[in-house]
Amino acid sequence: MKKWYAVIGDPISHSLSPLMHDTWFKENGIDATFIPIHVEPSNLKQAFESLQTLGVSGFNVTLPHKQAIIPLLDGVDDTASMMDAVNTVVRGGKLYKGSNTDGDGFVESLLTTESSPDSKVLLIGAGGAARGISFALKRRGFGDVTITNRTHRRAEELADESGSKSMVKAEAEKKLGDFDIIIQTTSVGLAENEALPISLQNIRAGTLAADIVYNPIKTPFLKVAEEKGCKTLNGVGMFVYQGAIAFEKWTGLKPDTDNMIQMITEKLGGTYVNR
Ligand code: NAP
Repeated sequence: MKKWYAVIGDPISHSLSPLMHDTWFKENGIDATFIPIHVEPSNLKQAFESLQTLGVSGFNVTLPHKQAIIPLLDGVDDTASMMDAVNTVVRGGKLYKGSNTDGDGFVESLLTTESSPDSKVLLIGAGGAARGISFALKRRGFGDVTITNRTHRRAEELADESGSKSMVKAEAEKKLGDFDIIIQTTSVGLAENEALPISLQNIRAGTLAADIVYNPIKTPFLKVAEEKGCKTLNGVGMFVYQGAIAFEKWTGLKPDTDNMIQMITEKLGGTYVNR
């Protein structure tokens, strides 16, 4: 019987996950389809029960349900537990278990730039995505990670938990030239002409500037970094790799990520500039 997978969120019409997973199902000869489902917060429990009744084989969870889904599931793995957020649900028989592939997705994308784990990393932001990335960086051997955030207390808390350092924003702006990799994980940048979450005045040419926002493909942060002579990495790679890790959890197969990055980049109207 044809299998089906889904992504639930509010809003959801913008999601590129159906295009990505349907392409991979086809490429891998899997008889399955992937559908976006608009679920408002007040309907989450009912929606999950419907997914179960209708026999969903697995699904992605996006904003604003990444935390609210947890008590409804039969369990979560270590990564989702540590992040207190789920973006992927895997079905095993009648059980639905939550996982989170965002942090590892980012690090996979970062590793395509051949960045060394010895690099000095500055993480801007201390929200859900920064949380996953900070732990994933540590797991993959990046030992020197500093976190800065608009609300400094959150940076301190995340740094304590993930074995990183924290720095107040003004100090990070002054010492920006000390870092080899600067990762923008805040939601700033979704609008074309938004102010930057941090001043890039002191950034060093040659530094790798990475933004996890992928629409627009070239955020104000990446534009300024490029003007300053930095290498840049946009958020498409993270999006594709988090999806690839989910796809592998569902099907046991590793999908083609290079072609997908190209395809999503073109879909967003950009040129592929990450490598
Ligand atoms: P979140 O948990 O709501 O965290 C938001 C972060 O942004 C916090 O650190 C917050 O700082 C900061 N922030 C918000 N507005 C700011 C402003 N005006 N100036 C400075 N800092 C500001 O969000 P999230 O789940 O981490 O997601 C963050 C972004 O990552 C979203 O745009 C999302 O679309 C993107 N994302 C991309 C991928 C991908 O696959 N590429 C995956 C996941 C997420 P405070 O603590 O001070 O509020």
